[in-house]
Amino acid sequence: MANNFPRLPPSGIKVLIVGAGFAGLSAAIECDRKGHTVTLFEKSDNIEELIRIGDIISFDPNGSKAFERWPGVVDQMEAVARQTTWLDLYHHQGKFVTRQSFAEEKIWGRRINAHRGQLHNIIYRHAVARGIDIRLGQRVQDYFESDSPAEAGVVLATGERITADVVIAAEGVRSRGRKIVLGFDENPKSSGYAVYRAWFPADRIKNNPVIKHIVENGDTHQGFIGPDIHFLASSIKNGTEVNWVFTHIDDGNIEESWQFPGKPEEALKYLDGWCDVVHELVKATPEGRLIDHKLVYRDPLPTFISPKARIALIGDAAHPFLPTSIQGASQSIEDGVALAACLELSGKENIPRALRAYEKLRYERVHKAQAMGPKTRNRWHKADWTQVWKTPEMIHLVREPWLLSFDAEKDAYERFWKVVEEGEKEKGSVKETSKL
Ligand SMILES: Cc1cc2nc3c(=O)[nH]c(=O)nc-3n(C[C@H](O)[C@H](O)[C@H](O)COP(=O)(O)OP(=O)(O)OC[C@H]3O[C@@H](n4cnc5c(N)ncnc54)[C@H](O)[C@@H]3O)c2cc1C
Repeated sequence: MANNFPRLPPSGIKVLIVGAGFAGLSAAIECDRKGHTVTLFEKSDNIEELIRIGDIISFDPNGSKAFERWPGVVDQMEAVARQTTWLDLYHHQGKFVTRQSFAEEKIWGRRINAHRGQLHNIIYRHAVARGIDIRLGQRVQDYFESDSPAEAGVVLATGERITADVVIAAEGVRSRGRKIVLGFDENPKSSGYAVYRAWFPADRIKNNPVIKHIVENGDTHQGFIGPDIHFLASSIKNGTEVNWVFTHIDDGNIEESWQFPGKPEEALKYLDGWCDVVHELVKATPEGRLIDHKLVYRDPLPTFISPKARIALIGDAAHPFLPTSIQGASQSIEDGVALAACLELSGKENIPRALRAYEKLRYERVHKAQAMGPKTRNRWHKADWTQVWKTPEMIHLVREPWLLSFDAEKDAYERFWKVVEEGEKEKGSVKETSKL
């Protein structure tokens, strides 16, 4: 490897990773840190396209902890991230309600909110600089695993079969890896919600008297709360770019896509009776910059690992999140951190033990974090305004230390042997019961 990034001595473990989203790239970098050898397959052959798509994405301190361990990465991210430590919340008809400060969360780590493509590009470039073998334009068609020989592998669209010690399936919400893990095909379903979202240059609004305040004093962050809808807007890069998103009820009759174009006039229909600020923001959106993003959802999976425990699902492939949890991206990073550490601790001869421990470390935490999505959404969409005006903090985002001040690497190092022991005991009791 032609670079001097700190990494543990070679572990001899060969890892195949499918998908170069945040989950796949983070797992690749973490495996490289631990001395494992990685080959990553990404179906898209155009990384420029991948980093163009999307808009605002949020990493909380529990996700950004990993970035701090990757030399240079977090500073590059800070340079493109929103510089706010608060969220101003308004009633949907325009009256200011409360400012929620995040300043005290600094002790937990950094919050990084920025354009998804720009952050993705920073991580991608870091993975390339580390010398990780990333193969673009390679669609994985199928997965396989066996005990003898002890291996797992992927089949590419070209028909080529590639084997390794372990496979990490990080191919997002439409994961094919789920089939081998679950034993059957399972389709995502509509969450009943969709998101209109946009990102564009601040020039579009800087002379508009109703909304210029959003961009004329550097970065800002505001939310408007109404029945069944919340509308978030922010300015970024010293007020030179602006973005907004709003979640609304939807019949979900078309497939999820990050590129499905939306029309301002359609979006405005949902905002009848809402204040001028949100109307002007939607109207100012340039053609082609408005995305109508249908949110799909899946029921929690019974497991994240394959029957022979050589294939693991991570990120959205294992657990898609609703945006109001603000945790989907951070949890996808935690997964890769924990899995790489489990492989390190378990060693090449004990890959299934590593994967079982990974699942035990992650399963409960991920599902607890997932539950934050509907919790925040209901807090906003079903707000009892008589109470909110008396106690505005009722509509603050729930920010809890168990979730946000968490270090997935430390947790894996501390709890690995404990969860292995628990797993062994459970296996023992299953055998005992089956003998009866
Ligand atoms: C194009 C795009 C834009 C997004 N924009 C936003 C945004 O603006 N804001 C936000 O909050 N979230 C966004 N998300 C979702 C967000 O990135 C994820 O929810 C989160 O980061 C978890 O990422 P992930 O790596 O698990 O999944 P994903 O980000 O979905 O990444 C999965 C990767 O796997 C690749 N892949 C899929 N199938 C195969 C296959 N068979 N073989 C090889 N490769 C495969 C995909 O091309 C993709 O690069 C976006 C996702 C995508 C794919």
